[in-house]
Amino acid sequence: MTEEQPIIFDTHAHYDDESFDADLDQTLRECRDAGVRYIMNAGTSVPEIQKAQGIVARAAGDASVPDMYFSAGIHPHFAGEYSTDRVGELAPFFTDPRCCAVGEIGLDFHYEDGSPRNAQQDIFYAQLCMARQLGRPVMIHERDAFDETYAVLSRQEFSGVPVLIHCFSHMVAEAKKYLDLGFSLSFTGAVTYKNGGYTLEAACYVPIDRLMIETDCPYLAPVPKRGKRNCSAYLVHTAQTIAEGRGMPYTELCRRTAENGLRFYSIDARV
Ligand SMILES: [Zn+2]
Repeated sequence: MTEEQPIIFDTHAHYDDESFDADLDQTLRECRDAGVRYIMNAGTSVPEIQKAQGIVARAAGDASVPDMYFSAGIHPHFAGEYSTDRVGELAPFFTDPRCCAVGEIGLDFHYEDGSPRNAQQDIFYAQLCMARQLGRPVMIHERDAFDETYAVLSRQEFSGVPVLIHCFSHMVAEAKKYLDLGFSLSFTGAVTYKNGGYTLEAACYVPIDRLMIETDCPYLAPVPKRGKRNCSAYLVHTAQTIAEGRGMPYTELCRRTAENGLRFYSIDARV
């Protein structure tokens, strides 16, 4: 490894996705070789979190792959399948020292035939209460539901819960509203897309101590890998684009965003 190699933290990935089943170990080694030191695998439903927990456990102590962690939460897409009393099924995951956050949770009103909105609202609220009770940070998924998500997260009762907005994809005005509440924002490969100029603008607006970068892999591969299965190694393109936009050295952008991730997820304190 050269001194020039960056320290990269992919703060939101889905290595439990079946598209990684055939070549996961090899893929993770390639990510490590590209400078990816840490990966947070985001939870979406109980079986997927169980699978992620196994992947994270296998990676632990293996210096040839990134240091992996996971979060536990019910994604809004699955809200229709989980009643709020099933949120308790997430609790056992938090006895694992590598389970760092409640997520991804939130609201997604993009699809007309998606999970019923009231079911999404109910399970989102229940999981925020769980995070507050456990003293854990939350990782938020929000799509086409900014006002509704903001209304819930800005409630006084959740003011003590650290919030990371994953895959932030609005304008500076919305970024400012979240930042004013003390939240951190994370950006994907969408900042490299031709039509993603406003997202890059928002990424350049966020104070450096509240900025994170992520792949959301296997989705949202950055240019020049757009359309391919994404993986944490491709995060270098996202980081380069944001570093250039902010006029700061690439390795510094990587280091600062990695430090933010470690601090947000209390990783130094835990493992
Ligand atoms: Zn995700």
